Amino acid sequence: MTKVLYNHDINEEVLQSKKIAIIGYGSQGHAHALNLKESGFNVVVGLRKGKSWDQASEDGLEVKTVAEASKEADVIMILLPDENQPSVYKESIEPNLEAGNSLVFAHGFNIHFNQIVPPADVDVYLVAPKGPGHLVRRTFEEGAGVPALYGIYQDATGKAKDIALAYAKGIGSGRAGILETSFQEETETDLFGEQAVLCGGTAELVKAGFETLVEAGYQPEVAYFECLHELKLIVDLMYEGGLENMRHSISDTAEWGDFMSGPRVIDSSVKARMKDVLTDIQTGKFAQGWILENQANRPRYTAIKNAENNHLIEKVGKELRDLMPFVKQKAIKQKEVVSN
Ligand code: NDP
Ligand code: MG
Ligand code: MG
Repeated sequence: MTKVLYNHDINEEVLQSKKIAIIGYGSQGHAHALNLKESGFNVVVGLRKGKSWDQASEDGLEVKTVAEASKEADVIMILLPDENQPSVYKESIEPNLEAGNSLVFAHGFNIHFNQIVPPADVDVYLVAPKGPGHLVRRTFEEGAGVPALYGIYQDATGKAKDIALAYAKGIGSGRAGILETSFQEETETDLFGEQAVLCGGTAELVKAGFETLVEAGYQPEVAYFECLHELKLIVDLMYEGGLENMRHSISDTAEWGDFMSGPRVIDSSVKARMKDVLTDIQTGKFAQGWILENQANRPRYTAIKNAENNHLIEKVGKELRDLMPFVKQKAIKQKEVVSN
């Protein structure tokens, strides 16, 4: 098995003398900044004036412009939306980089797909938590953590690995496990996971199941509970003890149905299309499409998002969740959607 590192394997001293700039204060940014500060590190947040600036100040953090924070920091972690990173980097970060600084990412997209090309005299590495930012924060507060990957792209100082591990420990990932990766592996597996399984695959599976029941004349409320609400309860069992643990808890009838019908729904044609999705990621076709979509001000993204938000499952779900006070109702502010 690949070596997994934990807190006791990591000496964080190498990061203690350094100033860390967290650029962005969204899903990942707020979690990294607060966790690192509470772990005893010297943190400044780099932002533009606006909502995040006010929030970070309210949370007791030192906040400066991206350029100022980058200039005074030794370690610069870029936690802006991937599509905004290249322009902010060019304008406000690159001119403030000094030899021996660290340029850090939580996802390899912009380095791997050549959207950011750093100078040779800085360390470039990634520390990528394998979970949504809000859980990076919540689990840290609970004394636990979210696992993370680290990967070195450029080691100008000879210390990149030590600093990356200290950073990962600082955000709490040393409590859960830290694994080595490369920018290529992290970028390709992250994109594949969110597209084929975690977000895209699951959302379509849920909708297809819901629509099948509703079109057959069953009540939408029943279909919602069956195909969306209960998914969390099933996934919690998988999370705690794998597929075997989930199958231990369900009835033998459900388990037999799982064995018989699961492979009929998710068959070899699905796997063949998963391979196509992976190929588009590996060849850069997906990345190119996303970069161009952003340059065009997101026409397709906007149209699809509007249609998705109007799906019957969303309307029924909202009404039902309103009646379940224990389900935290997420009236998602447009930009607070947890991406993965
Ligand atoms: P968010 O969309 O949550 O980040 C938004 C933040 O960026 C806000 O604070 C926003 O400030 C700020 N921002 C946006 N544009 C600018 C700008 N031009 N200048 C200054 N600040 C700006 O990002 P995520 O946390 O989702 O993603 C950050 C990185 O982490 C990405 O590389 C992503 O792939 C990676 N990642 C994300 C995960 C997640 O859980 N979301 C999981 C693992 C990795 P304002 O309020 O001013 O708009
Ligand atoms: Mg991702
Ligand atoms: Mg991910």
